[in-house]
Amino acid sequence: MNAAPARQVLAVKYGYRVTSRAESYLNYHLYGEPDADLGIDYYFWVIRDGAEVVLVDTGFAPEVGDRKRRAHYTTPAEVLPVLGIGVDDVTAIVISHAHWDHTGNLRQFPRAQLVMSEAEYAFWTSPLAGRAHFAAHSEPDEIALLARARKEDRLTLFTGTCTPAPGIELTEVGGHTPGQLIASVATPDGGPGSTSTVVLASDALHFYEEVERDWPFAILADLPAMYRAYDTLAQLAKQPGTRLVAGHDPLVRTRFARHAVTGGPAEVEVTDLTGPPTRP
Ligand SMILES: [Zn+2]
Repeated sequence: MNAAPARQVLAVKYGYRVTSRAESYLNYHLYGEPDADLGIDYYFWVIRDGAEVVLVDTGFAPEVGDRKRRAHYTTPAEVLPVLGIGVDDVTAIVISHAHWDHTGNLRQFPRAQLVMSEAEYAFWTSPLAGRAHFAAHSEPDEIALLARARKEDRLTLFTGTCTPAPGIELTEVGGHTPGQLIASVATPDGGPGSTSTVVLASDALHFYEEVERDWPFAILADLPAMYRAYDTLAQLAKQPGTRLVAGHDPLVRTRFARHAVTGGPAEVEVTDLTGPPTRP
């Protein structure tokens, strides 16, 4: 007899770009290190619980990626069936924050429940969101889609913490954006009754170096909140059985188990964050 399939958390790399360290870290000249190329992955995340699927973010829309000259290989509606997931299996979508590379394909899921922080929604639907340094990172029609979802009663807004499904806890940390959230996902550990936690930091942590070297990312709304978010993530990472997953770092693909997606575009890489670690 087959046991019920265990909860699985996947990172789907759907895009890539080469940037530089000086462009990625705030006031990089402070550190006295030479500039260098820095690869940036674009991911969305899949929490699969048997037939029930929750997405964390949806990546960017292909046409927006083209406009911004980002390489991209797939969208959720294209790749989920390759993973054996129907688009209608996605019951809920967590929106970690409302930047363009996270909200771009919400329209592929017109019936899914959406959840995000109240502060994030309030900010991006306020006049301040139109100022150049914020507007550069969002797409008005994607924000309008959130407002529409709210009218349709499909959008849950929260302050502080929220549990959209058993074993999934969202925590608002701010910093990168006014209401950036992280998602802690409890997963079976293999041993009887034991669990581990996958912490999907999304853009509270683009690159591991932000926490490991205390180097803030260059795009931000609130520097003290960003530092506090790094402290929160560093504390979580110290807990036994916790896997900290950065939002844009190619290291995710070497720190955790990677498997090929057969039948999808060759550049798409899926990393099983609940699989055996590839690095102690
Ligand atoms: Zn991002």
